[in-house]
Amino acid sequence: MADAESRYARARHEKGTAVSDTPTSPGEEDADGSIEPNPTAEHPTTPAPAPAPAPEPLLEPEPEPEPASAKPRRKKGPIIAIVLLAVGLAAVAGVLTFALVQLDKAFVLIEEQQRELDEQRDLIDQKETFSQSATELMSTAAQFDGLPFSTMVNPNTLETLIQSGWTHRWNSAALERASTNVDEETARLAALIAEAEEQKASNGTGTHFEKVTDRLGQGFISTSLTDTDEICEQDVWGCVGGDDPYTIHYDHAETRAEPFMNNTIREGVAYHEYAHVLQFTNPAQTEKALTAFDGDWETMADCFALTYLDGWKLDHTIWVSSYEYWEVSVGYGYTCNSEQRKVIREWRESLGYQHEPISQ
Ligand SMILES: [Zn+2]
Repeated sequence: MADAESRYARARHEKGTAVSDTPTSPGEEDADGSIEPNPTAEHPTTPAPAPAPAPEPLLEPEPEPEPASAKPRRKKGPIIAIVLLAVGLAAVAGVLTFALVQLDKAFVLIEEQQRELDEQRDLIDQKETFSQSATELMSTAAQFDGLPFSTMVNPNTLETLIQSGWTHRWNSAALERASTNVDEETARLAALIAEAEEQKASNGTGTHFEKVTDRLGQGFISTSLTDTDEICEQDVWGCVGGDDPYTIHYDHAETRAEPFMNNTIREGVAYHEYAHVLQFTNPAQTEKALTAFDGDWETMADCFALTYLDGWKLDHTIWVSSYEYWEVSVGYGYTCNSEQRKVIREWRESLGYQHEPISQ
């Protein structure tokens, strides 16, 4: 612009020189050749300072302006459209984000509800499983009803197991463990039944002792032929140990080698030993009955044989030939009276497991 202004100042000066011959020129030239400003001239007479002021728009007319609305209008349309599009996209993005958040919350809620449903379904399944297990346990235990071995099936154990289902009714894992415990007891009882059936159907020792023992014990009592002097720690024909009350040990050597031994004596011995099984497996009832025998387990066992084995006696005369016989005493030398035999009967009838239903 500075160059443009300078060119304009020089143009005025050259124009003034050209009109010096013409008095109607805008200004008179002085003697020194300078040009006086003409008050009538279009422009002020005061000497124009150099540089000149900003160019007047009249001398170099600017290009005719475009219609004010033409160009901006062409630009505003797309801009507004872009802005609207951006706003729209932002709104859509916001709505989508909101929708996604809501959807995510919905998924979380659904998953939580599904988990709760699964837990409830699992709990229901566990309850059904426990109910089936409990039913099976009780039906298995019912097969022991009347069996004279109280320690074989414990009603308190059954009740505790059955009640555990109610105790853990809101805890699936605990309920599952309770079912497992019930199943284990069922399996134990079922195994005893299976073994008893097998034992009752066979005679592993091939002896009269086992035949009698299997009948008395219904297969639940094992017969063992052994050296009773060692097992029983005394010179006897048989014994039962408290650590394994379901096994009767018979002396293998004496009960076979003695010339006077016969099946009648063997049967009496088996009854005596079986009484010991009942004593060990029914401690509470036995303790009460023992008072009738001054606490003597052996005379009580003899009395059991005398009460339940028809024709049994403790003293026997055993003829081994037409001229030779043996006087054989079996037991502990005391034949119980009728009162004691009554005690024995009442004792025997009170023994064992009496099956009763247990509510779940
Ligand atoms: Zn004995």
